[in-house]
Amino acid sequence: AAPVAFMGGMSRSARSGVIVKGGATLESLARARTVAFDKTGTLSHGRPELAEVRPANGFDADEVLRLAASAEQFSSHVLAAGVIRAAQHRGLSLAAGVDASEVATHGVEARIGRHAVRVGKLGFVQEVDPAADFDDLEAGHTAVAVAVDGRFAGTLVLRDALRENAAATVRVLREAGIGHVAMLTGDNEATARSLAGAAGIDEVHASLLPQDKVRLVSELEPRVVMVGDGVNDAPVLAAADVGIAMGARGSTAASESADVVIMADDIGKVAQALEIGRDTYRVAL
Ligand code: ADP
Ligand code: MG
Repeated sequence: AAPVAFMGGMSRSARSGVIVKGGATLESLARARTVAFDKTGTLSHGRPELAEVRPANGFDADEVLRLAASAEQFSSHVLAAGVIRAAQHRGLSLAAGVDASEVATHGVEARIGRHAVRVGKLGFVQEVDPAADFDDLEAGHTAVAVAVDGRFAGTLVLRDALRENAAATVRVLREAGIGHVAMLTGDNEATARSLAGAAGIDEVHASLLPQDKVRLVSELEPRVVMVGDGVNDAPVLAAADVGIAMGARGSTAASESADVVIMADDIGKVAQALEIGRDTYRVAL
């Protein structure tokens, strides 16, 4: 690109609160034809609220929530923050002296007093109690499983709403000629499909581990932009042609691995970043 156009594109993006790293990124944005979005914290707000506690096997709802929240203090996952806020809101005091470790992308395993607690993905809890299961979820709801002392203790149902301008952003991208829009998420298929549908995305890849996301972006065609926020998204942001991090409330790891960091908590900036790339290279290529 002519240096003048290039500098113009860089300063325009900076003024829009979109940090573009590296000289080649604007050109890659201009050439992008596929955009893949992470779900939690990217298409959704990532500020989940507790909708319901569904205790199982005779456990008490507040006790399930208190133990889960006590364990979640050791997780940086956005759902963990939602569980902790809900417990505090109900005036439940979190246990002290918890011995716990986060099992990345699965949940937390904790020793709380005399109790052994697991909280996170259904599969993670089924490892200790194969009978654990989720009932049907309403659209826009996601479920976290809890086990206490080797038994399924219940489900925490959380609501994490679609961002207000997510569907509009997907529409703008399509109008701008992005022929291929997809969702890549670690969450379960049903939750993923319902949120994707509301965003106007019909291609959904669910129940993914971070390495699955990396494999998928290399398979998606052509020229892929990946948008994500979580610690788990750092590898896929690095692997995509252009990685865009939702920087405002996202993880530091995601921002560090990305080529573009959106400073405001606004998914609409994704379309703006592509537009700036194109405007810059339309004049200059
Ligand atoms: P996404 O890829 O959409 O951002 P994640 O991979 O971050 O989603 O999370 C997917 C699922 O992982 C959640 O829906 C939840 O079931 C589970 N999970 C992982 N860690 C935790 C945790 N600490 N607490 C609760 N659930 C967790
Ligand atoms: Mg996420």
